[in-house]
Amino acid sequence: MIAHTPTIFASVALVATIMAFCLILVGQFNLRDGLLTSGCGLLAHALAYVCYTLYGQAPLWLTYGVANTLLAVALAFYSVGIFRIRVLPVPWLHILSLPALMLLSMALLIDTREPRMLAASAVLIMQCLLVIRWARQHALPGGRAHLLLIIGASISLVGLLMRVAAILSGTASEMQYDASNLKQTISVSLGTVTVMMLSLGLVLLSRERSESTLQQMALLDSLTGILNRRAILEQFSSELERTRRAHTNLALAMIDLDHFKQINDLYGHLAGDEVLCHCVRHFKQRLRESDTIGRYGGEEFLLLLPDTGTAGVMTALDDLRQSLTDTPAQFGDLSIGLSFSAGVWCGVPGPEDSIASLIAQADAALYAAKAGGRNTLRLAEQKSPGVVQHGELARSVEPGAG
Ligand code: GH3
Ligand code: MG
Ligand code: MG
Repeated sequence: MIAHTPTIFASVALVATIMAFCLILVGQFNLRDGLLTSGCGLLAHALAYVCYTLYGQAPLWLTYGVANTLLAVALAFYSVGIFRIRVLPVPWLHILSLPALMLLSMALLIDTREPRMLAASAVLIMQCLLVIRWARQHALPGGRAHLLLIIGASISLVGLLMRVAAILSGTASEMQYDASNLKQTISVSLGTVTVMMLSLGLVLLSRERSESTLQQMALLDSLTGILNRRAILEQFSSELERTRRAHTNLALAMIDLDHFKQINDLYGHLAGDEVLCHCVRHFKQRLRESDTIGRYGGEEFLLLLPDTGTAGVMTALDDLRQSLTDTPAQFGDLSIGLSFSAGVWCGVPGPEDSIASLIAQADAALYAAKAGGRNTLRLAEQKSPGVVQHGELARSVEPGAG
């Protein structure tokens, strides 16, 4: 079916205007979700197609030069949208150089048919390739929005490559914006698909970003940035399952800062908050990649050390304890000394061991550490038979004893 080319241009312009209106309307209420940028892109896209519609009836600088520059601006807006939505620094130089190149080549080549058509297609092809690259690079883990962006830009590439093929094969006149033929119908109709897919892709990307932000907020402790109680317990549950199946060691430590209330009382809650952040930074710097720490309660941390034996966990924790005692937290001019006590459980979890029972044992050991004078570690009795050698209930590791 051969359609009237200016009519297809007009229908693409209409679709893009409606989508632009919707996105600008909702995007203005939240500048951070990137929808306003995407809406501006659609508006430029719509204007470009309005200019194409006038081809042959208005000057060429408007219907070809301005039209293609507007299309390059639209693709630049979509690219900015990807970075804005993902809250990443925008590579302005890369993005803006292509519409500028389009403007320059249109100014220089407007009176030459094939060169201007090739130049316009080449710039748009580069922009589509960049959209594909950035959509792939900045896809959210498990997300689907980038697929729409990639497909949308790829479809646009097909239309552009058809134009390039026609120009190179000496049939450029078939691709003039006022010519109506099958190739032109296919190539121009692809514009509608591109508009729909790119705008849907950007909206979906924005939604995926909000969802992933919410998910992160639900899992991370807002003060220290480490896993919150719910998340560390989820991690504990999967580690417990894994070590049970693999019959390997799991070590866990319940860490509680000593006399933390006094720090709040003496220096104020903001100082207390900074002390908590200082401890977390300290722990994170010294723990292995495979270890996980979460904020279990106010000044209590749950530490999971997979595949770690008793000697390993006690040495690691005593290093942490010693180094924290040697590294006071700084709050303004204040230097706040601190220490922690910890109850440790280590062994190969058996079928009778649950999260609650292991935490209860680590807690009992922590209680013994507090009762034993604080700034110390205690190893809980290991109830699983014959797996890890251990001492009596709540065996003490005195400060500095390793
Ligand atoms: P102990 O050596 O026996 O552990 O004594 P402690 O003072 O550390 O223990 P306690 O449980 O009495 O005090 C914990 C304090 O932690 C009480 C609470 O106000 C404070 N706290 C809990 N969460 C936060 C927080 O997010 N920021 C600040 N600044 N303080 C907190
Ligand atoms: Mg406590
Ligand atoms: Mg405490």
